[in-house]
Amino acid sequence: MFDVDWHTPHLWRKTALKRDAAPRLLGDHETDVLVVGGGFTGMAAALGAKDSGVNVIMLEGNEIGSAASGRNNGLVISHHSKASPSEFESTFGPVIGERYNRMVAGSAGVAFGLMQRFGINAHQVQEGWIQPAHTEKTLKRARQFYEEWKAIGAEVSWLSSSDATAKIGSPYLGGWMVHNSGHINPFAMTIGLANALEQEGVTIFENSRALLIERLDRGWRVHTDQGSVTAPEVVLATNALTGDIWPDLKRTLIPFKVFQAATEPLCDELREKILVGDPAVSDMRNDLRYFHYDCDNRLVSGATHTLWFDEAERGRAKVAQVLEKAFPAFGGPPKVVEYWHGTFAVVPDRRPRLYRLGPGLVFGGVYSGRGVALSMSLGQEMGRWAAGRRSDDEMPLPVTAMQKIRMHAVAVQVANRMHPWHRLQDRRS
Ligand SMILES: Cc1cc2nc3c(=O)[nH]c(=O)nc-3n(C[C@H](O)[C@H](O)[C@H](O)COP(=O)(O)OP(=O)(O)OC[C@H]3O[C@@H](n4cnc5c(N)ncnc54)[C@H](O)[C@@H]3O)c2cc1C
Repeated sequence: MFDVDWHTPHLWRKTALKRDAAPRLLGDHETDVLVVGGGFTGMAAALGAKDSGVNVIMLEGNEIGSAASGRNNGLVISHHSKASPSEFESTFGPVIGERYNRMVAGSAGVAFGLMQRFGINAHQVQEGWIQPAHTEKTLKRARQFYEEWKAIGAEVSWLSSSDATAKIGSPYLGGWMVHNSGHINPFAMTIGLANALEQEGVTIFENSRALLIERLDRGWRVHTDQGSVTAPEVVLATNALTGDIWPDLKRTLIPFKVFQAATEPLCDELREKILVGDPAVSDMRNDLRYFHYDCDNRLVSGATHTLWFDEAERGRAKVAQVLEKAFPAFGGPPKVVEYWHGTFAVVPDRRPRLYRLGPGLVFGGVYSGRGVALSMSLGQEMGRWAAGRRSDDEMPLPVTAMQKIRMHAVAVQVANRMHPWHRLQDRRS
């Protein structure tokens, strides 16, 4: 159910520059740091290690950007998934909590900074992200987010009901805005980062799935079907599609499948009434409404299905219905023409993970749907850590042993079928 048909063209691939795939891994290689997984986390980890002055090899099982990093909605957001800064501090304690909050507050800036550093064209727009509220209860929660981030020094502002409604083109009671955030074509970003890594001297192998990790006296040997890489330090950045590469690792996260859809390009008249100033938006519903424009004025949104039959047809219809309800300017259902799906990793407490699996073997990531910006900050920290520039105590998250999810198979099914319940909650709140 969760594997993506990554060859199928989707909107982000269609509008991104092409890149020739890196070679497959053949024969036996050695390096200082091996990164497994070529999404944002893996690529940022490879960059963090390379910037620290060590040799780096990265293995990607399919194509760079073939999983969540190349298929997501493209919202680049400096905010937690559902939680407030104080809630992270109470989970992680004041020292790590504060460090983590600061990293999250700066994460969109780091992502846009990488585009600038490497001259990446990912159709990036850094005009802020708005989280509007549709009920009094969610308005109170939005206010809490705003106040807490403001106290930390994040560049945020409060929007009144009339400001939020005018800017978004949809009726809301108010909301808050994070100014360093925005939106990108995420697949174009994966292409740009892969090119940048090669330019910096990272060796990338694509279509090279790591199948087995062998422990050596010093370090590890990671095997693919046609070769191996030996390294003292190995970073696993395999996210939702983590298979059997390490015992029980896949039981520490829940793959969660969602779809994305986009309208045909909107005319200037609609463009002037919907998302004025080109912000990115995702609201506070449990069945989240989220939108931004792509480079050709298509409105990009998404949702999930409880059952996946006729997924594309039903997905386009559902998004057309949501957009019609959200934006009075449409005056009817807009034409939704693009559809694709993807899978990200969630955990019940929505706290990202850093696991030490053995000496010199780590796993990190799991962003519960809020990973575009964060993966680029956390990934670089993981790379510095693997290169010996950070100790466990200096990391922005607690370094732990694996945290397995109880009754994992059941939890996966429940998480992926909760959608009707979320909608019911939205109606009640
Ligand atoms: C449809 C969708 C919409 C989303 N929208 C947003 C959004 O708007 N904003 C936001 O912040 N977040 C969003 N997310 C979440 C975000 O995309 C992810 O959190 C982030 O991309 C995770 O990056 P990653 O590198 O950790 O994982 P991935 O991008 O999943 O990369 C992991 C990589 O590891 C590779 N791999 C796995 N096993 C092996 C192996 N054994 N050997 C070699 N390679 C392996 C996979 O092929 C994959 O390329 C969305 C996700 C999806 C799916």
